[in-house]
Amino acid sequence: MTNPIRILFIEDDIEDYRFIESIFAAIPRGSYHLDWVSTYDEALAQIRQKQHDLYLVDYLLGGQSDGLQLIRDAFPNGCDRAVILLTAHGAKEIDETALQLGVAEYFDKVHIRAPLLERAVRYAINSKRVEAELRDSEARYRMLIEAAPDYICQLDTDQRIQQINPSVIRESGYQSAEIIGKPLREFLTPLSQSVLDEMFPRLLATGHCRQEIEFRRKDGSVQVMDCSGSILKDREKVSAVVILRDITRRKQAEHALELALGREKELNELKSRFVSMVSHEFRSPLAAIRLWSEMLRTFRHKMDDTAIDSKLASIMSQIDHLAILVNDVLSLSRMETGQVELKPTTADLDVFCQQIAEETADRYRQTHHLVCDLPTSRIPARIDTTLMRQVMVNLLENAFKYSPQGGTVRLSVALNGDGAIVSVSDSGIGIPESDQRFLFDPFYRATNVGAVTGTGLGLAIVKQAVELHGGRIEVESQIGAGSTFRLRLPVVPSD
Ligand code: ADP
Repeated sequence: MTNPIRILFIEDDIEDYRFIESIFAAIPRGSYHLDWVSTYDEALAQIRQKQHDLYLVDYLLGGQSDGLQLIRDAFPNGCDRAVILLTAHGAKEIDETALQLGVAEYFDKVHIRAPLLERAVRYAINSKRVEAELRDSEARYRMLIEAAPDYICQLDTDQRIQQINPSVIRESGYQSAEIIGKPLREFLTPLSQSVLDEMFPRLLATGHCRQEIEFRRKDGSVQVMDCSGSILKDREKVSAVVILRDITRRKQAEHALELALGREKELNELKSRFVSMVSHEFRSPLAAIRLWSEMLRTFRHKMDDTAIDSKLASIMSQIDHLAILVNDVLSLSRMETGQVELKPTTADLDVFCQQIAEETADRYRQTHHLVCDLPTSRIPARIDTTLMRQVMVNLLENAFKYSPQGGTVRLSVALNGDGAIVSVSDSGIGIPESDQRFLFDPFYRATNVGAVTGTGLGLAIVKQAVELHGGRIEVESQIGAGSTFRLRLPVVPSD
């Protein structure tokens, strides 16, 4: 047997109580349990205990308060329990106020009959139960939306924001009034505005979409958002719901990982370039030194002094070559780790460069030409002459080395604004475009070097040294047509 429905009857007149009790008595036994209180205060106390399923409230309670006042005081947020109001004389205003307060039914005592009252009680209890269930489920959904860390925005078909969840206010720094009614694009970075402009019509057409966009908080900081949208159709009205999930941290982590992987890849490449350089550049001189030493040991007695001197000279030259190589590796590493201190002196840059060009060209005078293009007045600059010599020798050596016989190497020094431009051009093999951006990496050699020997260290040293001087280096090259390396250097300001 189910529990009886508990009813509290609030009535100051005992006769009326008896009357209602007799009506309930006519209903099958056990279905209802009727309690009775006769004053406002008792009623309020009972209602607050919430032990009844339904309140049957008489409009006239004697004293100063009436039944409507009791309902107002007992249910300040509207009736959440079934309430039926009874009066001795019906009045339209009472009826209307009762309805506004959430009263389920309103009866004129004179017309009350058992079946009518019994049905009203059942309907009132049922409708309150349905209402409560609806309220609960709505509250659960609201809680979900309110607790969601994602931004949830409802947009009209013009992208204007109609509704937002509290997370938007909590996280973005904007007040609701600064957001509602504005187009979502106003809160995005310029790049993301075009992403949204492209995405929104697609969302309206297909019903869904997903894209990464950047949301700008009020303080200017940017959140990378995973934005997914879907369409809401409420009767005839179409709107879009977009959910923005903050993936800034994930993106930062991905970026850091990419950088780390990139660095690791670079290191691996550096290592393999180093190994390949060592195996070429160290092995051959060592093999040569070993061969000539063996020859000296075995055939010394058959050689005259000239032959012996020649072999010794070859051995010395290979040793010098190895020493230069080791020095280059060391000086690059010292520059890269900031251990090299610039020791600048004032020198005429044009004269300095011309001198080195002529010295270098001397070794190639049988095969190449040198042309110097120099300014009429001197260009004084603060340079570390040892480092700058290394720079110029490397550039000029390369220009000769990577040019065919008969080629011309051109040195030009000129003032340009408040700096000097030193360029070394050749009409040699050129550098493939895909190699150009790696040229200044240690041990990097372009793919078209063929049999021309080298370590891939020179340009790395040049770059470091030029940057130490506060300058920079650029390269322009076309395969088969030649290359130009251009240095931009600060000069001593003229008074
Ligand atoms: P290397 O000892 O190999 O010449 P560098 O560091 O001086 O090393 O130069 C790096 C690479 O740049 C060279 O291996 C070559 O591929 C390319 N390169 C440099 N200068 C020139 C040039 N003038 N013409 C063609 N290629 C050049």
